Amino acid sequence: MSILEDLYQILGVARDASPAEIKKAYRQLARQYHPDANPGDKEAEERFKKINAAYSVLSDPEKRARYDQFGSADGSDPFGGGFGGDFGDLFGDLFSQVFGGGMGRRQADPNAPRRGADLEMSLRVSLLEAANGVTHTLEVPRWETCGTCSGSGAKAGTSPETCATCGGRGQVEQVQRTLFGQFVSVTVCPNCQGRGKTIREKCSDCGGRGQVRRKHKLEVKVPAGVERGTRLRITGAGEAGVNGGPQGDLFLLIDVEPSKDFDRDGADLHTRLLLTYPQAVLGAEVELATLIDGVEKVEVPAGTAHGQVLKIRGKGMPRLRGPRGRGDLYAHVLIDIPSRLTDRQRELITELAGEMETPVGAGEPGFFEKFKKLFD
Ligand SMILES: [Zn+2]
Ligand SMILES: [Zn+2]
Repeated sequence: MSILEDLYQILGVARDASPAEIKKAYRQLARQYHPDANPGDKEAEERFKKINAAYSVLSDPEKRARYDQFGSADGSDPFGGGFGGDFGDLFGDLFSQVFGGGMGRRQADPNAPRRGADLEMSLRVSLLEAANGVTHTLEVPRWETCGTCSGSGAKAGTSPETCATCGGRGQVEQVQRTLFGQFVSVTVCPNCQGRGKTIREKCSDCGGRGQVRRKHKLEVKVPAGVERGTRLRITGAGEAGVNGGPQGDLFLLIDVEPSKDFDRDGADLHTRLLLTYPQAVLGAEVELATLIDGVEKVEVPAGTAHGQVLKIRGKGMPRLRGPRGRGDLYAHVLIDIPSRLTDRQRELITELAGEMETPVGAGEPGFFEKFKKLFD
């Protein structure tokens, strides 16, 4: 005999319910148990998951047919094996949704301490902040244990009472004999909605919930080297636990603003270096603005071509993980071709032009030899 919850029962419909009836029941229940309508209510959240899992099977004619067939399997333990791979897929999926991975496991004791939910927020930092690390103050809206009733939900001077219907277990069992065999169905206690306790007089500060919504101020240290998509875990900064359980965690999803001067490729940075024609031809020592280290002197070798890349070792981003140290900075050379010239410049360039050979064109012999540096 199994304690499998009947999918039809989860949705409160008959086995021969029409697709329209199933849809209607689903919509009504989904609205009722939606997490938005029951913030912080773990039981409602669990119920909502089950409702969705049940609907995902019963709304699909093929899956429903298989489920019906499976239900008729002579009343023996449906988990005892004997099904083909198809069933494994379908029900493996279903059980992980309904039972959180533990097949047929009973619902946890409602009075046991439970950890608070995790929260996720996003935080946008500049590339410079990502490079150096930064401390940000965040306001985290979250559920915290009500200080007035210490989380019990009962009015000051009173305490919650054990539910008489379920004896504090939060669920009730029913043995059902159906055409398909005998089931023990476990459902959420209708009297206490699975809490295992009832409150006669509610705490006025939290309305009986035991938790209140607050904005928590939090200083967060963002380490150097974070990237877009880095997830930082701040232990214990999530929602309050229930029955003395620990706080959940806060996950910070990092977004890094793009910079107009630097492109990032992991720990490496790319920037542009503008050179005059004489600097590129003759070589020069020039100044280059880096992201982190201010202005650096860079040696440009004679005969540097447009588009060539100079590597400045160790001036990239710090690494968050893996080998310590920093990436490299790559300077992509651009040759500045002036559009306006002084008379003197024009005179010199004209004179220079007379001295220069016309370069070989693409496709002519020697072209690729001559411009090899650009195609490496
Ligand atoms: Zn309270
Ligand atoms: Zn109860």
